[in-house]
Formats: sequence, C-alpha cells, structure tokens
Amino acid sequence: MTTTIKTPIYLDYAATCPVDPVVVDKMIPYFTETYGNAASRTHPYGWAAEEAVENARVEVAKLIGAEPKEISFTSGATESDNLAIKGVAEYLRDKGKHIITVATEHKAVLDSCKYLELRGHDVTLLSVDNDGLVSAQQVADAIREDTVLVSVMFANNETGAIQPIADIGALCHDRKVLFHTDAVQAFGKIPIDVQAMNIDLMSISDHKVYGPKGVGALFVRRRRPRVRLTPQIHGGGHERGNRSGTLNVPAIVGFGEASRIAREGMTAEIAKTKELRDYLRDRLMGEISHVVLNGPREHMLPGHLNLSFEYIEGESLLMALKDIALSSGSACTSASLEPSYVLRAMGLNDELAHSSLRMTIGRFTKREELDYVVELLKKHVERLREMSPLWEMVQEGIDLNSIQWSAH
Ligand SMILES: *Cc1c(COP(=O)(O)O)cnc(C)c1O
Repeated sequence: MTTTIKTPIYLDYAATCPVDPVVVDKMIPYFTETYGNAASRTHPYGWAAEEAVENARVEVAKLIGAEPKEISFTSGATESDNLAIKGVAEYLRDKGKHIITVATEHKAVLDSCKYLELRGHDVTLLSVDNDGLVSAQQVADAIREDTVLVSVMFANNETGAIQPIADIGALCHDRKVLFHTDAVQAFGKIPIDVQAMNIDLMSISDHKVYGPKGVGALFVRRRRPRVRLTPQIHGGGHERGNRSGTLNVPAIVGFGEASRIAREGMTAEIAKTKELRDYLRDRLMGEISHVVLNGPREHMLPGHLNLSFEYIEGESLLMALKDIALSSGSACTSASLEPSYVLRAMGLNDELAHSSLRMTIGRFTKREELDYVVELLKKHVERLREMSPLWEMVQEGIDLNSIQWSAH
C-alpha cells in the first residue's frame, strides 16, 4: 500500500465529528467582528448578531421540515432532552404523571426520567427486540389515561437502529399524547420531517453533524398541537422563554451552516457513507469467522457498524486496537467496565456485549483507512483467539452450550 495513513484512524463519528472547514470559515467573523449580543436591540452589533442567529434558525428548521419559530437553541442535546422531558412533565403535572420511554435510550433521556420518577412520576420502560427495535403496538399497549409523554429515540447511538418513528408519531397524535424523540444520531444523516412524522418535540445536537460542540436545539411544535413546557433555566426569557441565557452566536452560525451542508449533500452522503460501511461490514464478516452484527440489517443509519467478536476478551481487543479510535461495548459509560446496557437490552449476554466494537464512519473516512482497519482486526482477533481456551474447544467441534460448567 502506498498511501500513508494517519493513525489513530477516526471511526467514532457517532461520538463527535471534526468541524467541517467550511463551517469554521463561516463562524470566524462572529468571534472578532460581528460579536454583538443577539439580544441587544439598541445598536447594529446586536442587530447583526440577531440576524445571523435567525438565518441559522431557518437552516436548522429547514432540515427537519419545521418553522424557524419552533427551534429553541440550547447548549446541546443533553440539555434539550432534559428540557423536553422535565419541561413537559412539569407543565402537565396536573394532567397526568405517566411517561413512556425505552430501555435503550441515551442516558440524558433515561436519567431525566429517573429524576422525575424519584419525584412522583411513573415511568414505563419499553423493552426492545433482538435488533434493538420497539413497535408502535408496544407503545399503544403502554399508553394510559394519565400518560403525558412518550419519548423514543430516532436512531440508537450504539447500533444505529432506526425506530419506527412515523408509526409511533401517528399513534401518539391519535391518542393525544405528546411525542418526543432524541434525534441526535439521525439529524442531518437521514431525512426527518416533523410534520409527516407527527413529532412534537425533538432534541438535536450540532457536534454530531460537523459543527462545533456545545450547541444544540429543541424543536417545540407550535401548531396541532401547540406544545408548552416549563423552562428549566430561568433568566432573561431568551428563546421564547424556553431557555434563557445569552446565545452562543458563533456556534449557532456554525450550526446553521452545518445544517445547510447536511441538507444539500444528504443524498450523496448517504450513498457514500453506506457504501463504505457495507464494505467494512462485508469484509470483516466475510474474512473473520464468528462475528455477530448487532442491530438490524435494514432500518439502520448509513454510518454505523456494531459487531461482536466471539471468543475474545473485549478489553484485550480494545488494547490491541490503539491505532483505531472507536467505541466498545464496555467503555460507553465512561470508565466503567459494565457491558453496554443497550446491547444487554437486545438480549446479548455479557461476553458478547463485552466483545463488541462500534465503528462509525463519516464524511472524511477513506477506503484505505478501512482496509487498514480490516487487516489490523484480522491479525489481532486471530492472535487473541489463539490464546483462548474456549476458542480451542470450538475448533475441536465442542458445543459450548452443551457443557455443564461447574458451579462456583
Ligand atoms: C451525543 C448524544 C446526546 C448528547 O448530545 P450532546 O449535544 O453531546 O449533549 C444525546 N443523545 C444521543 C442519542 C446522542 O448520541
């Protein structure tokens, strides 16, 4: 191979992305020239900043089929999830105290629900099937008289599994229950239409679509129905009272530009990303035995690939892969070695969850990098398996499930 490859190879686009250079260029004047406070109404510095923010709001809205007024900027999707869930729960407290969500949601959703549960709300956690999917029927069965909110993520951050959002949205609309979706992983990656999908609230983040970190938004529907929520940060009444605080103008300008690029290039980017992902998947699964795909084969984000390598100890695999920046099924919740709760909820045992790798491909991934990754994985999986007594038994044709392990 003649091309030089820069290591570590970045295959963690679901965690964050480099900022697109076009986005950086667009942001720079807003640090040093157009530096006004977008809330300053008395001079041109403020007006220019406000105009830049409103232009960005239009771009973000356009990407999801929303009205600009329905976009409230936040510090990121963690805050958006908190605002949506706690804000709606608090506003509708007298109407009901039941919330429905799913076991595989992001911690920002699960922990917001847990917080409410400790203060008197009732939370139903739906289970998922082996592909990580819930059905609209499961949601229908869980809805009660006192249900005020259903929160189901658009696409899972660990596996890329895409939930049946339009079906769940239609159901919630029929039953007059508000529907929130954490769409961080889907935003800018696949088409989203908040009208057609009957989404009432939606959390999105900028740094997963090649914009800067520290800015996100909450879509809050204004018509049919008009969604109200109790703000969680009080102050000057910015963002229609939904979220006070001086706006991060340069980052919001970046958010707008990142949204424009994602919208205009989406069709081509889906095709390119999916082709690279399929290439990596087919080579790894074709050239290494006993590899399991975690997540559905269809209904998948284009850039996600989550695989388990049987008969390998996850930690040693990760140590051997220092040249690749990726996530593992045991390192997702910070430093803990707990196996991924998402994979566990899909029915994987601890061993398979521990030996899983999440590789996410993005705008700047090159095929030569994937070739390098395949060769590295082939080498290390083989080496580690040779050290495994289980692998030896499998090679001898012993069915591990038939063995009576001694109790301890
Ligand atoms: C990254 C992510 C978040 C958190 O977004 P931040 O903007 O980093 O706070 C929430 N939900 C999902 C599904 C994510 O992938």
